[in-house]
Amino acid sequence: MDFTISPEHQQLRTTLREFFETEAPIEEVARFDRDEEFNSELYRKAAGLGLCGMGFGEEYGGTGADQISICIAVEEVARASAALAYAWLPTATFCAKGIAQYGTDEQRKEILPRVADGTVRIAMGLSEPEAGSDLTRLSTRAVRDGDDFVVNGQKVFTTGADTADYIFAFVRTDPDASASSGLSVLLVPKGTAGLTVRPLRKLAGQATHTCEVFLNDVRVPKENLVGELGRGSAIIFGLMDAERIYVGAEGTGLGQGALDMALKYAQERVQFGKPIVEHQAVAHMLADMAMDVQTSRLITWHAAWKLDQGLDCTMEASMAKVHGSEAGTRCAARGMQILGGYSYMVEYGMERYWRETKLYEIAGGTNQIMRNMIAKQLGRRGL
Ligand SMILES: Cc1cc2nc3c(=O)[nH]c(=O)nc-3n(C[C@H](O)[C@H](O)[C@H](O)COP(=O)(O)OP(=O)(O)OC[C@H]3O[C@@H](n4cnc5c(N)ncnc54)[C@H](O)[C@@H]3O)c2cc1C
Repeated sequence: MDFTISPEHQQLRTTLREFFETEAPIEEVARFDRDEEFNSELYRKAAGLGLCGMGFGEEYGGTGADQISICIAVEEVARASAALAYAWLPTATFCAKGIAQYGTDEQRKEILPRVADGTVRIAMGLSEPEAGSDLTRLSTRAVRDGDDFVVNGQKVFTTGADTADYIFAFVRTDPDASASSGLSVLLVPKGTAGLTVRPLRKLAGQATHTCEVFLNDVRVPKENLVGELGRGSAIIFGLMDAERIYVGAEGTGLGQGALDMALKYAQERVQFGKPIVEHQAVAHMLADMAMDVQTSRLITWHAAWKLDQGLDCTMEASMAKVHGSEAGTRCAARGMQILGGYSYMVEYGMERYWRETKLYEIAGGTNQIMRNMIAKQLGRRGL
């Protein structure tokens, strides 16, 4: 067993850290957050670093990165800007990876190079008003009509849908089949007649809008079917382990950001004649934050390593998701306490972490559902 981080992984972190500290300073990120404005320039520059092609191979313009590299990139993006993470992750990891793994050759050639260079973004349309944790309730219906599918239904919480070029929409193609064989995936292009997108007001990451999507007799060419008809569930399950590992990495990156900010503040802020880091109560909060970041990084990288090896990692991915997200929440809460009243001030950036972190306990499968899965896997194969 070797815990040494490779020079390539270290270099990736250093490059991304420097890039985001220059291109996404706290005040800029806060401005886009407050104005609820998507920062397409930052997205394009991040693509220029190869971030958007990490989930697929060089033949389609990607970099075919290993899972630890993707986790490092996710940590650094989440540390810098959750709004960027909300646009980048569904596009570059979930949907582009789905097209690379399950799509047709035409779809790969047409879409993936443009994902890699940052000109195409894709929103993930899974959740519906009646189907959150319970995906067997998905009811957006697609019916074959000539060379098209005609789609009717509603999606909710589709992040980035208003600025995306496609929605990677999970639809029911066979109403009589079980969820495991009745779902399919369609790529719905932006601007298609009958497609309406309405941004929702939300707590955090406002620069990338989370939307309601209404589909009213939307005609989608049959060539936009991703994977086989009726194999949508297999696509969900094929991509979800990675998705959960990356949510764990988001929590880790956010926790690291909160720790860095709180440590610097505690070393500089003087009360009762000494830096507050010398007050044991503050030092202990920093120690707890460091333990949370370290354990979530290790648990996340372990799951990522298993995924890379092609090993069953459903339990490890669920653990990474739960631990990383809850560690991020604890770190942000301690960071708030350490910065005292200044934590409430937008210019310090801690309040943004505090608002952002809650989502990671909810999206990508709630932590209750993750605990159900861990317990089920424990019964099956133990720890
Ligand atoms: C900001 C934001 C962005 C999002 N982005 C996207 C996106 O881009 N694409 C997309 O498809 N979705 C997205 N989502 C949706 C997200 O994945 C769902 O919110 C999540 O899956 C939970 O579904 P729900 O909100 O309907 O909660 P529900 O499923 O209604 O759950 C409500 C509560 O009940 C609990 N619960 C439900 N069933 C069980 C059970 N069997 N055992 C124990 N507890 C249970 C849950 O844990 C939760 O606490 C986003 C959500 C948010 C808030």
